[in-house]
Parts: sequence; structure tokens; C-alpha cells
Amino acid sequence: MIRQKSFENEKPTLYLVATPIGNLSELSPRAADILRNVNVIACEDTRTSGQMLKHFDIHNRLISYQNFNEDPSARGIINLLSQGQNVALISDAGYPLINDPGQRVVTEASALGFNVVPVSGSSAVLNALVASGLVVQPFLFVGFLPSADNERNRRLREFRSYPMTMVFYESPHRIKKCLKSCLEIFGDRRCVLARELTKVHEEFIRGTVKEIYEIADDLKGEMVIVMEGNKDDYPKDVDYGTLITMVSEKVAAGISRSDAIKDVASVTGISRRRLYELVHSKDN
Ligand code: SAM
Repeated sequence: MIRQKSFENEKPTLYLVATPIGNLSELSPRAADILRNVNVIACEDTRTSGQMLKHFDIHNRLISYQNFNEDPSARGIINLLSQGQNVALISDAGYPLINDPGQRVVTEASALGFNVVPVSGSSAVLNALVASGLVVQPFLFVGFLPSADNERNRRLREFRSYPMTMVFYESPHRIKKCLKSCLEIFGDRRCVLARELTKVHEEFIRGTVKEIYEIADDLKGEMVIVMEGNKDDYPKDVDYGTLITMVSEKVAAGISRSDAIKDVASVTGISRRRLYELVHSKDN
């Protein structure tokens, strides 16, 4: 066990700084201070981040941290922390790690006992979710779905019976295909498309999957899909495999089996006794 009291030690710190997803005035004074005062800023693209930082008159040392090159990138940052330097990790927009690079270095830096400190800011997932009008809790953040049709459909089938609101990131040139898959697999549920968040052309399209699919050709810019969960009576249309997976994932995360069954039963509405029988029948 490692306890981190973020501001009560002298250890080098890896700051995870959220940067604006559109509107530059969303960079907080705290974030600007940290970006100005760390020894190094690790970013995805030094040119993109360099421009953003210039806007705030921040002229600090930039190094590049790449998803496809996470091993050496993470090692480089761990070396800097080991030399006593403070490092800020940023992505092109929003939070690092949220469908952006950074997982490896955060896992390693925290395991090695360095401070890992989040610095708040905007993220497309939360902006889209809170303004969607759909039920916010519980929600599942999926991020990008696979781009190949088969893979995407397989993934969506896994989510078909999930009762919680789901959030997908999607690129504009795949939005139509993605909505088509959603329509085929989920049916015509309530759905919200959040576009160009925090920018001048910000738009929320609140409707159903089919309605949004029908206008998808005209949609441009950065997009988030917020999808209503399965509102059918769960036990009638139950996907037992999904229920068992939900329990197993909680157990793998360290929750006791009976608590996992209790949680999944309360989220899905299936009876605790029935779920218990299902999980045990799988064991036998
Ligand atoms: N790290 C970012 C975050 O915290 O939201 C996400 C980066 S991910 C590579 C880029 C995707 O995020 C886009 O394809 C889009 O789905 C979503 N996104 C980012 N900025 C957005 C915006 N201003 N409006 C809508 N979606 C946005």
C-alpha cells in the first residue's frame, strides 16, 4: 500500500493537467501556474501544445509523449522524476489518459511512489453527459469504439443489455456508421449527440438514434454520443453472459463476490437470488 499526501511531502510530482477542449478560457489559473512552474511539460504534439501554451505566455520545456511509443516515453518521464524534476503531462485537449496517452507513465509513477496529482479542467465526456438530459448515474464511458464494423458490432452487443447511460467518442467521418450499428444493435433508443463542445458552434442534438442517424451526413466537428441504457424490463430480455461478466469484473477489481452480486442486482434490477444462482451455476 502506498499513501500519497499530495501536498505534504517533497517528492517529485507528475501533474496530470487538463487543457481546454475548445474554449481557451477554460484553462484554470492553477493549471497555468503548474504548467509555468514544472521543470518539463510532456505533451502529445509539441507544435499543438506549443501554440496553446504560447496563448497563455507559457514558455516551458516541452517533450513529446506518444501513445504508440509509451514504453520509452514513460521511461523518459520516470527518469526525470527520479532526478527530482516535476513533470506536467498534457494531451492535445481535455484530460490526458482519457482516450489519450498517459496510462503507462501514471501506472509506473504511482507504483514507484512519486506523487501523481490531477489538475482539473474540461473533458468532452463529462460536458456531454451532464448536459445530455439523460440519466447521469450510473454511466459507462466507452471512449472510441473499434472502427471495423464487425468489431464495433461485437462490442456494442456486449453493451446491449447494460441499463446505464453510455458515452462514446466518435470521429465525424465514422459517425454515420456508428449510429447505424447502434440502431441495429440497441434499437431506437434515446440518444444525444454533443458536438463542438465549448466552441462557438457547440450543439446538442437530443433525439433518438434513428433521428440522429438520418441527419448524420450533415454533422461536422468533434462529437460525443451519449446513449440511453437498456430500459426494458431486465429479467425479460436478460443477457446472462453480460450479468456474469459484470459480477466477474467487480470480483477481479477486489470486491467480494456477494457484494458484487448485490451491486449488479441493484444496477440491473434482476433479483439478487437469481443472480446468485446464475453465477454459481456457471461455476458448477
Ligand atoms: N482527452 C480528451 C478528453 O478528455 O475528452 C479526449 C481526446 S480524444 C483523442 C478526442 C475525442 O474526444 C474526439 O474525437 C471527440 O469524440 C471528443 N472530443 C474532444 N473535444 C471535443 C469537443 N470540443 N466537442 C465534442 N467532442 C470532443
